Order: sequence, then structure tokens, then C-alpha cells
Amino acid sequence: MDCLFCKIIAGEIPSNKVYEDEKILCFKDIAPQAEVHALVIPKEHICCANAIASDNSAVVAYIFEKIPEIAKKLGVTDYRIINNCGEGAGQTVKHLHFHILSGANLSEKLV
Ligand code: AMP
Ligand code: ZN
Repeated sequence: MDCLFCKIIAGEIPSNKVYEDEKILCFKDIAPQAEVHALVIPKEHICCANAIASDNSAVVAYIFEKIPEIAKKLGVTDYRIINNCGEGAGQTVKHLHFHILSGANLSEKLV
């Protein structure tokens, strides 16, 4: 499968890892939009939020269970979590990911 994030998971493309276990991976965004900008992804390929269903939602819950620990590793307590679903919403990589943004340069709130 020609998926950038699956290649990062496989180690075919290097990444700046923050956290990894058997189910998920967190790495720094290559083009940070805030002082702290990391991405959390499931190791299982899920294309986007529209593809979350009862048979794969456990890993999504798991990501959110792990986010406090990941935030601690990033050295932040206050942060924003963003998911873009679909090209119209700005999704450029078709592998489900949650942006964690914090610190200086965090733009004005959208919602
Ligand atoms: P999105 O636009 O929501 O699909 O987010 C995709 C994110 O992946 C963007 O913020 C990119 O900067 C980031 N990105 C693209 N390629 C890489 C890479 N090789 N390593 C880390 N982050 C990347
Ligand atoms: Zn993938």
C-alpha cells in the first residue's frame, strides 16, 4: 500500500519518534505549525475518521487513553487535538492521525 504513514510505521521512512507501542506511534510533525506539533497514529491502516467503526474503534479509544502520557513526554499539559477528515477539511495523508499542538505559535481557536 502506498501510504506514507504505513511506511513510517514500517521504518522505511525515518521519523522523530515520541512514543511507540504495539498499537500506536507518535512522532513529531515534519512541518510544525506550533512550538510542539506531534502526530498520533494507529499502526493499523485506517484511512480517516469516516472509516472508524465498531471493529476498529478500540485503537482510537486507546490513542485517547495514551494522549495524556504522550503529552507528558512532549512536556505539555495544555494542548489542542485536531483531526482533519477528507481533502475538503485539509487531510493530506490518508492514514488516520491526530495532531497534538501546543506552546507558542498556537493559532487562534477555530472552535
Ligand atoms: P493532514 O494535513 O491533517 O493530513 O496532516 C498531515 C501532516 O503530516 C502534516 O502536518 C504534515 O506536515 C505531516 N507530515 C507529512 N509528511 C511527514 C513526515 N514524513 N514526517 C512527519 N510528518 C509528516
Ligand atoms: Zn497507512
